[in-house]
Amino acid sequence: MPISGRKVPPHAIEKEQATVASSISGREVELPAMWNRMFEPRVLTEHGPDGFAKLAELPGAESLEWCYGCGKCIPVCPVDVVGEYGPRKLHRKVQTGFDLLSDPDLWLCTSCGNCLRVCPKEVDMIQIVPAAREAALTEGNVPGELQDVFEKTFRYGNALGENPRRRAQWTRDAGVGVRILPKEPGPVDVLFYVEDYWSYHPRGQEAARAFARVAHALDIDWAILGHEEKTLGDSQRLAGEKGLFDALVEDVTATLAKYEFNRIVTPDPHGFNALVKEYPKRGHEFDALHYTQLLAPLVDRISWAKELPYTVTFHDPCYLGRHNGEYDAPRTLINAIPGIELREMGRCRQNGYCCGGGGGGMWLDGFTRDYTSERLSERRVREAAETGADMLVVCCPYEVSRFEDAAKSTGNAQLKVRDIIELIDEAMGHGG
Ligand code: SF4
Ligand code: SF4
Repeated sequence: MPISGRKVPPHAIEKEQATVASSISGREVELPAMWNRMFEPRVLTEHGPDGFAKLAELPGAESLEWCYGCGKCIPVCPVDVVGEYGPRKLHRKVQTGFDLLSDPDLWLCTSCGNCLRVCPKEVDMIQIVPAAREAALTEGNVPGELQDVFEKTFRYGNALGENPRRRAQWTRDAGVGVRILPKEPGPVDVLFYVEDYWSYHPRGQEAARAFARVAHALDIDWAILGHEEKTLGDSQRLAGEKGLFDALVEDVTATLAKYEFNRIVTPDPHGFNALVKEYPKRGHEFDALHYTQLLAPLVDRISWAKELPYTVTFHDPCYLGRHNGEYDAPRTLINAIPGIELREMGRCRQNGYCCGGGGGGMWLDGFTRDYTSERLSERRVREAAETGADMLVVCCPYEVSRFEDAAKSTGNAQLKVRDIIELIDEAMGHGG
């Protein structure tokens, strides 16, 4: 059975024989084989509207009640592939008396957006889940690891709890000079918003250095904020900490107001989403790009030094693709690299499978383990390996470490995981 195929339903176990009472005569009738299932007794229960009434009071969460049970959302929900999930199933649970605010299901949604893409009633989990989580937070119902991330973000301005003074430490080994605006102020074309995982995570730092070398070679006028940078906070918002997000928006925009730049470019699709969708709602408009969108139009200017003999497959980040409609810029870059063969996975582009890191999922792997048969990243890595590719290529800072862990835990250690920028850097003769 192909990994990327549809979910396999459980094998139905039929009783040999069943006896049912005729509803007309009351006489006992024996029925054989598959027909028995239709006559198994069911308990029908009436439930009140309390669960939906509670949600309807939360701005954004009212649409769960609009579900009319068509079931389109279930086959596209990545969590349902490894468990029992999706808006329709949550709707039914609330309908039958579950309190979503205290139910573990509240924390399983990765806000990937695939259900909203297909839902005829526009049941919007991207609004429902953060609103319900915010209410759960005020009731003290929050997984411990998420609380920890909120506290680190509040204290240090990044989800990893790292020292803000070390934000720009990665630049030291980049091999090219990186302008840090607080030290070298003045107008700049591109303000590069590095975000947490490229600033601090060892694998993210490698990608950041690769970007620095590529940007330098392309003569891009760019600079970073260094220790003045704080996370843009989109994942914390989706995880339910709207208050923290609002505070970050104030801090970030106050810092940005000090500098003169034309565009903000970030490698983080979550940060990018915040800049194009959430900051404008709060009165802050920017010309924001994902780094693949900055580089794709410049691809003809790249001087390639060598061919890379890799067969790769590409994972669409939910917040670059489905949420913001960008599927082509990463592929333009991948296809431009000499020697690379790109093989698409069955689930790609609009129907791309989620890595599990969105909506706070990045920090909830320990929690979700109890409610899913495997991590979403593990499922995705098996789909990637099935293409026969020897490399899984990504362009989201969350994904390199997630997929590298998953490749090891699923016995696919032969599958390398690299960011697109690392491949460009290598093919330009800088690294690798
Ligand atoms: S697609 Fe929308 S209306 Fe249909 S079952 Fe799912 S949530 Fe309900
Ligand atoms: S947003 Fe994604 S993970 Fe959440 S319920 Fe919808 S399809 Fe499932």
